[in-house]
Amino acid sequence: MVIEDYPRTLLELERQFATEEQCRAYLTRLRWLHGFICPRCGGQKGWPARRGRLVCASCQHPTTVTAGTVLQDSHLPLRLWLRAMWYLTSQKNGTSALGLQRILGLGSYQTAWTLLHKLRRAMVRPGRDRLSGRVEVDETQVGGVTPGQKGRGSDSKTLVIIAAEEFGPGIGRIRLARIPDGSAVHLHGFVQGAVTPGSSVHTDGWKPYQGLDRLGYHHAVSKLQGQPVNAATELLPRVHRVAALLKRWLLGTHQGAIAPTQLDYYLDEFTFRFNRRNSRSRGKLFYRLAQQAMQVPAVPYKRLVGGTDNKIHH
Ligand SMILES: [Zn+2]
Repeated sequence: MVIEDYPRTLLELERQFATEEQCRAYLTRLRWLHGFICPRCGGQKGWPARRGRLVCASCQHPTTVTAGTVLQDSHLPLRLWLRAMWYLTSQKNGTSALGLQRILGLGSYQTAWTLLHKLRRAMVRPGRDRLSGRVEVDETQVGGVTPGQKGRGSDSKTLVIIAAEEFGPGIGRIRLARIPDGSAVHLHGFVQGAVTPGSSVHTDGWKPYQGLDRLGYHHAVSKLQGQPVNAATELLPRVHRVAALLKRWLLGTHQGAIAPTQLDYYLDEFTFRFNRRNSRSRGKLFYRLAQQAMQVPAVPYKRLVGGTDNKIHH
């Protein structure tokens, strides 16, 4: 059994992560829960060496606790990374890059932005389970408020698809993804990536959803018959509640200033927060983020800036 060890208050954080050595020891425990594994030969014995390195006892390959993770190649102290994780998870709505730059006293906005985006990458747990049971699915338009652009042209809007588990009258877990359009290939692809076959998928009467039965889902369709457009809110109340919260968060915390290519990572952060909204301890969120940061592979800066187009179904 793994004991979840995390600070519960700011003072505990300061005490637990006062030095680089403490931070490194903490991250080492999270990365190698069951003991050191050499990334090159798989050897299970490593020796501590200078400057926080570990040297494999079998092949002599030197490594660090952050090599191969989202923290790789960072010149920032681990103390700063752990404080960024704390700040990000202790705030109910997270923070913008500007907010992070200010609180951590970072020299540049770009540093804060990069740090934040790397942490967002760590918000999707590798190999996470798909949703199950009864799941509502629908799309919504996001964005449309690009700075320096007049009006709310539909071309600056992005289509986001939402899946929300039914949990009694409430919402269980959610999954979100950006999709290029509402065609069957994208809708089906999303459902297959987000929902376990055998589950019941509840949608409106939009034609491209047809065929989910053949993919192994129980497809429940609620149709609008001569009702006002906003009746969709009542047909699929959970996804619409999620959509409203998402839009409020994007406009509130991030002032809506998000490039469509970057939206995926904001969706990941929103999902991370939403699925842990009932977590009794903020420290537990911190623990999850730190743990996942040690498990998610490194991202080159270029790909971080460019966003990605192949992350649509995850
Ligand atoms: Zn080795």
